[in-house]
Amino acid sequence: MSGVCVYLVGAGPGDPELLTLRGARLLEQADVVVYDYLANSALASHVKPDARMIYVGKKGFTQHVTQDEINELLVHEARALEAAGGGSLVRLKGGDPFVFGRGGEEVLALREAGIPFEVVPGITSGIAAPAYAGIPVTHRGVASSVTFITGHEDPTKNASAIDWPALARLAQVGGTLCFYMGMRNLELIAQRLVENGVSAETPAALVRWGTTNAQQTLVATLADVAQRAQEAGFGAPAIILVGPVAGLRERMSWFEERPLFGQTVVVTRSRSQASVFSDRLRALGADVVEFPTIAFAEPDDFAPLDAALQRIESYDWVVFTSVNGVDAFFARLALYGGRCDARALADAYVAAIGPATAKRLEAYGIRPDAVPGEYRGEAVFDALAEASAEFGLNLEDARVLIPRAQVAREALPALLERAGAQVDVVAAYKTVLPPAEGVDTLVTRLKAGEVDAVTFTSSSTARNLLELLGENRDALNCARLFSIGPITTATLAKAGFTDVVEATEYTIPGLVDALVAERLEGGSR
Ligand code: SAH
Repeated sequence: MSGVCVYLVGAGPGDPELLTLRGARLLEQADVVVYDYLANSALASHVKPDARMIYVGKKGFTQHVTQDEINELLVHEARALEAAGGGSLVRLKGGDPFVFGRGGEEVLALREAGIPFEVVPGITSGIAAPAYAGIPVTHRGVASSVTFITGHEDPTKNASAIDWPALARLAQVGGTLCFYMGMRNLELIAQRLVENGVSAETPAALVRWGTTNAQQTLVATLADVAQRAQEAGFGAPAIILVGPVAGLRERMSWFEERPLFGQTVVVTRSRSQASVFSDRLRALGADVVEFPTIAFAEPDDFAPLDAALQRIESYDWVVFTSVNGVDAFFARLALYGGRCDARALADAYVAAIGPATAKRLEAYGIRPDAVPGEYRGEAVFDALAEASAEFGLNLEDARVLIPRAQVAREALPALLERAGAQVDVVAAYKTVLPPAEGVDTLVTRLKAGEVDAVTFTSSSTARNLLELLGENRDALNCARLFSIGPITTATLAKAGFTDVVEATEYTIPGLVDALVAERLEGGSR
């Protein structure tokens, strides 16, 4: 079979970043992806939009698709790809494909059918979940072996393939026992070990949904682990770890200690602006739900921008007030054809309202001449005045172009005009309300208490979210509301939401600080 290959790829234990580089690259190239329940859905972000995704999920004991059916499906899909001229199929499996993943059976079926295959190992949950719980599976002087065992097997059956006395001997010298698929048999597993001579006081840890935001850890002893798990409602999927290493968690826990771990935070910024904020929140452990309340569209009238572009060399200053303004400006400029890129601004000084806008400009090859330390119009004006003086430019008869949103605040143009500058404020884009898709899901999650915080980074995000929620706006009372500053807070207050946490410093980092502070005070649910 030429031109076809099936890749058995380990998806890792849950954290989407724990996929291997090779796995990510193969997913990007795949024409067909066959995946199951434990392969994190975020992995879908690597897949080509036109790739075919086939779900063959199994959920523990209630099997949907049998292994034979999966084997047949892989062979069938690979042959179909070959008939269509070749391609690649990724069989994505949770953790590692060859660790309790039945990857071996799939490989044998492919070999039998003469279909080429490769195996890409993944990080197995038996190592990763303990690591994220702060438990090393081996530790010098404590545990010199680790054994991976299936806990799925019925421990009451006589001809057990599991050698309990052997496991007990390993455990007696501190060896780590790591059970997969064992939650239903937890009590029996603990019993068997104690019956075979392992001390009932041996630490036993359970790590559920390891490496994900839903991770939960419970440390007990063999004597009480089953009862404590039941009391805590602890279920699958979890790793059961037995051995003294479990006692190290107390000193090594880290993942669950991050300041926003376990918090679900809604980000209402536009999709293109959200990432910096979202990334900061995620780095602190939050589960981020991006719900954009602002989208961008072309302005109603391009004529003023076009006129400005025609005489672009006549401007002394071009002032960009948003990332999107930069993109919209250069997109329009490019339509003019040759040399219509950064070179059009060769004779002008360029200002960016803040670091994000400055960074965007750099992507177009421009290092701005002025970046004020603060976002307010007054601060921008001061920065322009100072820079002008430095460049020997007289602001009094300077020509200034401000390509920006169709509707925006007037502080900066007014200040510049008062100083004598000739200012052209032109619309490069307009902000619009995005389609209301996903609103129902958000409302359901809010009402179910699954959202801890909703963040507002501007008045328009507040206004727009309220508009999108419509008569369901009361659902916002189920979460803590966070505002970036007084103007946004006032907008919320006007709509009847007065219990709002306001950032001390009116910036994204300030808003992040407010979330962390509120969490530390135990103020959020
Ligand atoms: N091939 C997978 C294991 C599949 S068997 C791997 O290498 O990880 C399924 C079992 O794996 C579950 O019953 C559970 O014991 C364990 N498991 C998978 N993902 C897990 C996770 N994120 N946290 C804890 N246990 C997990």
